[in-house]
Amino acid sequence: MDRDAWSSHNWVECRMIEIESGNPLIQHRCSRCRRDFLEAPPTGERYAVYVSVFSFRRLPELITRQWLGEWCPGEPLPNDIDLRRRLIENRAR
Ligand SMILES: [Zn+2]
Repeated sequence: MDRDAWSSHNWVECRMIEIESGNPLIQHRCSRCRRDFLEAPPTGERYAVYVSVFSFRRLPELITRQWLGEWCPGEPLPNDIDLRRRLIENRAR
């Protein structure tokens, strides 16, 4: 994992959340590209998530690997917006 790619983001939201009780996670959101990640403190594992009002949805492993390897694109990418829209549509079905 490239640590510089991680720190190229401008993290504005780093808050503890608890999806399952006793299992706290840290949510990170970048103010520039609007990507969301969750970090699991015991292992430091990070993965890309889609955050909606009520829940977190883990994004495909491929996306996680891509996002973790990329430097902050500096703005929300059309691809990302597309991806989120598809996730929302899938949920509605
Ligand atoms: Zn970013």
